[in-house]
Amino acid sequence: MPIATVNPATGERLRTFDALGAADVERCVAAADAAFQTYRSTSYAERSRLLNRAADLLDEDTPDIARTMTTEMGKPVKAARAEAAKCAKTMRWYAKHAEALLADESPDAADIEDAGASRAYVRYRPLGPVLAVMPWNFPLWQVVRFAAPALMAGNTALLKHASNVPQTALYLEDLFRRAGYPQGCFQTLLIGSDAVESLLRDRRVAAATLTGSEPAGRSVASIAADEMKKTVLELGGSDPYLVLPSADIERAAATAVTARVQNAGQSCIAAKRFIVHTDVYEEFRDRFVTGMRGLTIGDPMEESTDVGPLSSEQGRSDLEELVEDALSQGATALCGGQRPKDLERGWYYEPTVIADVTDAMRIHREETFGPVATLYRVESLDEAVTLANDTSFGLSSNVWTRSDEDVRRCVSDLQAGGVFFNGMTASHPALPFGGVKRSGYGRELAGHGIKEFCNATTIWHG
Ligand code: NAP
Repeated sequence: MPIATVNPATGERLRTFDALGAADVERCVAAADAAFQTYRSTSYAERSRLLNRAADLLDEDTPDIARTMTTEMGKPVKAARAEAAKCAKTMRWYAKHAEALLADESPDAADIEDAGASRAYVRYRPLGPVLAVMPWNFPLWQVVRFAAPALMAGNTALLKHASNVPQTALYLEDLFRRAGYPQGCFQTLLIGSDAVESLLRDRRVAAATLTGSEPAGRSVASIAADEMKKTVLELGGSDPYLVLPSADIERAAATAVTARVQNAGQSCIAAKRFIVHTDVYEEFRDRFVTGMRGLTIGDPMEESTDVGPLSSEQGRSDLEELVEDALSQGATALCGGQRPKDLERGWYYEPTVIADVTDAMRIHREETFGPVATLYRVESLDEAVTLANDTSFGLSSNVWTRSDEDVRRCVSDLQAGGVFFNGMTASHPALPFGGVKRSGYGRELAGHGIKEFCNATTIWHG
């Protein structure tokens, strides 16, 4: 895949970049390693100062970097600005909380004595240079949610970003440089995925995190396992969205539209499978379909646009194949199911709701990475939970109900890294984020995320 900016709204190739050669990559790894030897001993106060400065610069840069993101991957520019704001907020959150999150932890005095120690505690020490392999869908956020905690913990970072967002990737390196980080603390490597293996096998690279597809995760995790290196994987999702009889249907349907089409549906935590109790099925379906039909599709640079193009031609044809497979086997498109007729250039696809889905269809099992919802009718909570869990993924889940019994059952039984009631899944710096099953392992954000790339070191004094 060439490293290039290709505007998804027009299909035009705007800039192409040469991949770094082996000697350049070696220079970057050496710099990351050298920077770690000193940066690891900086105080939390100094790390906070640097990260707060990066947040301030990002605020100033937001109008420009938002347009860059929109040009590279097609998200509506208003959403791009919101993404930049969330990154700045997360930087400030970690700048404020990292020291407390990584404070030494001591067992009870009785346990210290029982361990034969006069004093014992856990010290969270950084691991070293961490390789981050990142996707294009939230091109700032995916990186910042790794980098903010990793840098606050004292690690250094090497970013291999997706090949279609090179300008955003270079912006990130420049941002951290301008914030005053020592050279080598955060570097962008413009490389293809074929160059990842040698980085993972380099003894100076301590660990890796990947956000992306299952095949990419499997490859990175297996090479890292061969090298006995720690990994965090944030992979795909096919989140269920349960609407139960006591739900506020008007709100559930309005939120369902946003939950499905945010980022043109290209979000791992977008709600993808809408599982609705028969008692409220018709009302929810009608409101949901009306909401999906009412969205404004078009130029992502326009402030009024709700849904922009998909990020690539390949992404759109993958989505079309899933829809066509379903329709050819008897599913029904309640709206959409095709390209918008008035947008000939660019990789647009109409917001779509597919009903009458059976488990023989690919769309039932595979992730729909675009604005396509599947709608299911169920007769009971038992059936809803069984269907919600009938997936290889387990990222997050959404439940609409006012019943305490429904809440208890879903907290206990939904197989996912998150259960969101009466709202849509969203990440927040204070709440851990991650999945189970084939959605990956490990957690980002909160205290859980910052500890992933730390050596929890037992310190024991006799
Ligand atoms: P992708 O193809 O896996 O790409 C993600 C990153 O991995 C890119 O930097 C890509 O580089 C690299 N890559 C691809 N194959 C690789 C390999 N064999 N070895 C090493 N690196 C490799 O994913 P995508 O299609 O762009 O993104 C969509 C997927 O990401 C969806 O499944 C989505 O659900 C998931 N996702 C998950 C989360 C989460 O937090 N769980 C968040 C966002 C997205 P190139 O660009 O150079 O190929």
